[in-house]
Amino acid sequence: MNAQPNGTVGFLGLGVMGREMARNLAEAGFQVRVYDVVPAAVEAMAGLSVQPVGSIAEASSDADIVISMLPDTPQVEDVVRSEGGLLFNPPKGGVYVDMSTIAPETTRALARELAQIGVSMLDAPVSGGPVGAKNATLSIMVGGDAESFQKALPVLRGMGTTINHVGGSGAGQTVKLCNQLICGINIQAICEALALGRAYGIDLPQMREVLMGGSANSWMLERLGSAMIDGDASAGFRIDLMMKDLRLVLEAAQRRPVPLPGASLVASQYLDAQAHGEGANGNQALFKVYDRMTGRPTGAASTGTDA
Ligand code: NAD
Repeated sequence: MNAQPNGTVGFLGLGVMGREMARNLAEAGFQVRVYDVVPAAVEAMAGLSVQPVGSIAEASSDADIVISMLPDTPQVEDVVRSEGGLLFNPPKGGVYVDMSTIAPETTRALARELAQIGVSMLDAPVSGGPVGAKNATLSIMVGGDAESFQKALPVLRGMGTTINHVGGSGAGQTVKLCNQLICGINIQAICEALALGRAYGIDLPQMREVLMGGSANSWMLERLGSAMIDGDASAGFRIDLMMKDLRLVLEAAQRRPVPLPGASLVASQYLDAQAHGEGANGNQALFKVYDRMTGRPTGAASTGTDA
């Protein structure tokens, strides 16, 4: 297997994340064969140094390694198990890396099935969003066997900067779900602090600066706090995706079982946002749920000085 730059990579799923990751691999020197179930997504890659193909078989058969970046568990199952999928068209290098965020239990089942035909599957979900995908600075959490991790490492280095092998099959997905649990509840905490500060007429941009200098600081407060104060619901990690991840968190919790009251509460608030047609907003737009609860619109920061 040649997973060094100049090796061949099959890349499945050219959405918000995948198209940037595939482009970075091509720029790093890999021969990249790109496939998406939506032909327009493949056509949009024209002009980049990638090879568009029309099937999983064409992307996989000659590849040292196959990568997928797909929406959710059913699509990954489809790519592996469907007629024309990886079980019938395995990569010649014998390594498949799924970088989507999906159910850890399904990952383990797919890895067992692929192992029977000699293919090693790694789960390698990412954190860092579209900006991390574009700049090849993703944080990548990898589950699977250590030998395949070493083989995949040069390819993963073409897409990310923080790359950790966190355990056996499914462990990468479990760590990613823990990441999402923290992100979801952290956004909720910021919404609540802004709602309380707003009700007391606090200067919210100043409050954010103050909090960033103390123990309440977080990635979310730094990157999303201003958008939340300004009422900017656009862009960022979509509410629909956050809700998908919180569903996976709660499903995983039910299996062991692990009570997660915080995740359960914040999931119902993201459902509130979806029920109001706000699923395509960035996840910072959880503030709209607080706008409704408090009757005070975000963006109208100063309501008086009765603090
Ligand atoms: P997306 O919906 O933009 O892209 C997914 C792509 O997969 C689409 O182009 C779709 O046509 C394609 N696809 C679907 N089924 C397919 C199939 N059977 N065969 C081939 N292609 C198929 O999603 P995204 O935002 O790129 O996210 C991908 C994954 O990464 C998700 O699991 C998401 O949770 C995770 N993720 C996303 C972000 C983000 O900020 N968008 C951040 C971290 C992790």
